[in-house]
Amino acid sequence: MAAQVAAPKPAASPAAAAKTPATAPATAIPAAGTASTPTTVPAAATSGGGGGAGPTTISLTGTGTSYSKAEGPIDAKFKEKREVVGTYQGIKVWGPIDPPGQLGIWGQDVCIDFDICVADGACIEACPVNVYEWLETPGHPASDKKAFMIREKDCIFCIACENVCPPQAVKIFKKG
Ligand code: SF4
Repeated sequence: MAAQVAAPKPAASPAAAAKTPATAPATAIPAAGTASTPTTVPAAATSGGGGGAGPTTISLTGTGTSYSKAEGPIDAKFKEKREVVGTYQGIKVWGPIDPPGQLGIWGQDVCIDFDICVADGACIEACPVNVYEWLETPGHPASDKKAFMIREKDCIFCIACENVCPPQAVKIFKKG
């Protein structure tokens, strides 16, 4: 008589439990698949490896997708024409910006026009004090990463980076 009770009940229980987890992931998938979410995460992660720890007020993602690569050289007088629109890990960003396709000019003394930068990497190799690191900028028409002057404060103003940049995207404001 005891076998009649034990057999059917365990079979029904696991089947009911399986329905609950099957519903939960279906709700989570659309959130993880949102385009802006994964793009923002790697950019923010660079703060761990960089020398800067300042505030970030701008995003590298957005709706600006109808831009073309800008031609160099960087405008040496951009500070007279542009305004600081925010910061990224403490580094100034001069507008206009319309991410991800238009990113403006970055830096105060070590400046790079991100809309001209083609991610050649010569500046990163030339710098004797490791001012730069790569910053991923997916969706930008000139290149999907930029030489980010995260350790701008360490610059010794040797101008090596300015001299080796193929599209002339770099401008150093203090001369050593
Ligand atoms: S000027 Fe010299 S020290 Fe400064 S960022 Fe460029 S290569 Fe590095």
